[in-house]
Amino acid sequence: MKYGDDTEKKSETVAGESITRREFLKRAGVAAAALSLPAAGVFGGCARRRLPHAAKALILGMDGVEPKIVEAMLRQGRLPNFRRLAEMGGFHRITTSIPPHSPVAWANFISGANPGTHGIFDFIARDPKTYLPHLSIASVQPAERTLKLGEWVLPISGGKVECLRRGPTFWQTLEEHGVPTTMFRIPSDFPPTETGGRAISDLGTPDILGTWGTFSFYTNNPPADAKDVSGGDVYKVAVSNGVVRTKLHGPRNDLRKGGPKCAIDLTVYVDHSAPVAKIVVDGHEVLLRQGEWSDWVQVTFPMLWRHGVSGACKFYLKSVRPDFKLYVTPIQIDPSNPALPITTPAGYAQELYRRFGPFYTQGMPEDTKAYSSGLLDADEYMQISDFILNERLEMYDYEMSRFDEGLLFYYFSNTDRHGHMFWWARDPAHPAYDPKLAPRYALAIEDLYETMDGVVAKALSKIRGNDLLMVLSDHGFAPYYRSFQLNSWLRDNKYLATLDTGEGESDIFASADWGYTKAYGLGINCLYLNVEGREEQGIVRRGAEREALAREIAQRLLAVRDPKNGRQVISNVYFAKNSYTGPLVDSAPDLIIGYNYGYRGSWQTAIGQYTTTLLDDNDGVWSGDHCIDYIHVPGVLFCNRPLGAKDPALYDVGPSVLEYFGVGKPKEMTGGNVL
Ligand SMILES: [Zn+2]
Repeated sequence: MKYGDDTEKKSETVAGESITRREFLKRAGVAAAALSLPAAGVFGGCARRRLPHAAKALILGMDGVEPKIVEAMLRQGRLPNFRRLAEMGGFHRITTSIPPHSPVAWANFISGANPGTHGIFDFIARDPKTYLPHLSIASVQPAERTLKLGEWVLPISGGKVECLRRGPTFWQTLEEHGVPTTMFRIPSDFPPTETGGRAISDLGTPDILGTWGTFSFYTNNPPADAKDVSGGDVYKVAVSNGVVRTKLHGPRNDLRKGGPKCAIDLTVYVDHSAPVAKIVVDGHEVLLRQGEWSDWVQVTFPMLWRHGVSGACKFYLKSVRPDFKLYVTPIQIDPSNPALPITTPAGYAQELYRRFGPFYTQGMPEDTKAYSSGLLDADEYMQISDFILNERLEMYDYEMSRFDEGLLFYYFSNTDRHGHMFWWARDPAHPAYDPKLAPRYALAIEDLYETMDGVVAKALSKIRGNDLLMVLSDHGFAPYYRSFQLNSWLRDNKYLATLDTGEGESDIFASADWGYTKAYGLGINCLYLNVEGREEQGIVRRGAEREALAREIAQRLLAVRDPKNGRQVISNVYFAKNSYTGPLVDSAPDLIIGYNYGYRGSWQTAIGQYTTTLLDDNDGVWSGDHCIDYIHVPGVLFCNRPLGAKDPALYDVGPSVLEYFGVGKPKEMTGGNVL
């Protein structure tokens, strides 16, 4: 996709007319020195005030952009605007988080601190009282007090949606000091931090079902493994006289006894000869040809009397004959009437809706699960990815057109998802490599980076004088060849005691004998000791016993070799007490497993399962990953001014931006100024 060509020309003129590079650096240096003087002194109070200059800071977050690919493309001259930006200031590898998961990495960015302070350790966290897992970013609690009235259960107190990340955000501090901010699709911040500025959340924002995205797939001929499909529901339907009568399923109705799922009628009329169908849902009629996508369709699920929950989804008529196949995207929270707080102020969602109509509101909206399950193919996944990218680019133009002061953060997610879903096509050594299909997608990541170069062109055209521009990724990428079954290893080595005597496949929640279990894995990189006084049935005593056990397990894990090729599976094991600081270190996983390049914790480990194997080939299309040893996957940082520090880390960005605006950092922020 070509993007930003028009702005590219403009920005060259701007740079050419305004100042030379040397002048720029001089002015930038003077400005930085001037700004660093007043720091907390002048702006230390909390009164909102206008800045004494019109400087602004633009941060483009491009999830998962891999430095090695970028460096190769820079050498080939394929990223001219990234190059210009690097020449204005610099291009660095930026240290990511431990572990390098997006929720953790962006939380480091947001809070200017490590996970011991912000408390996000993985995608998945657990309740030490029950050992049960939950998603790490946010929790949605129903109302505590209700009134039962016949079949209705009416809330008296409000339910609670809570962001589980702790500590202040750097833009909150900016707002308190009079710097206007817009955080566009900020990951790991759902619901968005309430400030006087604008924000819309991304990663962590659920669909209307409260999940991280559940698609629906209707067919008369479901695959044999339909029940095992994760991230979606496959419904078997009958095509009777050319008509499919089924339901579109919505959220649970907690206002009714038992919380039954809401559903509305979904009827599809299939043309008797042409490959065409008409979809009728909630008063809408949508005519689709085979292979065609609908625009957004807004639907409302009735809850109580005339009140309902509204959402928006797209339909894709994959096939009409011989098999009927209809895909429906996860139902998005409707921005015209959001069921959960996706923006601050609340009206920002409606403002975007009025301008753009419905849009993807869910975090991580690229439907990787539908593609991984084989229900959608690579082309169809790419179409979804392009819908999202186009939305994001249109909104980028809009936000850039009114960006005149303060801070704008703008986030692109496709760069990460392409790394996950198309790595197989660039790597003949990958178990999922398909020589027939590979040429079509081998350069998918590079092509997308070229589109991002257009995004940088637009950014360059917008900045002036001593404005600050940073382009960064939260981590890089690596191939994901082999999966390690951490819980199987813990069981085989007698750290995890299990009650099952069956085939050796189960999960810790059903089968762990906690009274004899010393350690368990949950999340992709997390190993918890079963600590007395922390875990409900903890048996490992704090102090010397806990430390000796952690050391012993770490040493033995480092010794694990892959029988297939003799390679070391785990390159580093990190101790929370050494790697983290802050009030939450004791609740962190005791050990963070740093997988070697090419390896990763298995999907089963992430949800507490164990299997009969220790290492498995990864032959799925989710073929690239970054949840490994953080030293293998640094991100990128481009900046329009030279950095004063050699090794920037993600948690330095917030404190640096605060310093740029002459604002002192809150005491919770341990990152430093790298500008
Ligand atoms: Zn990722």
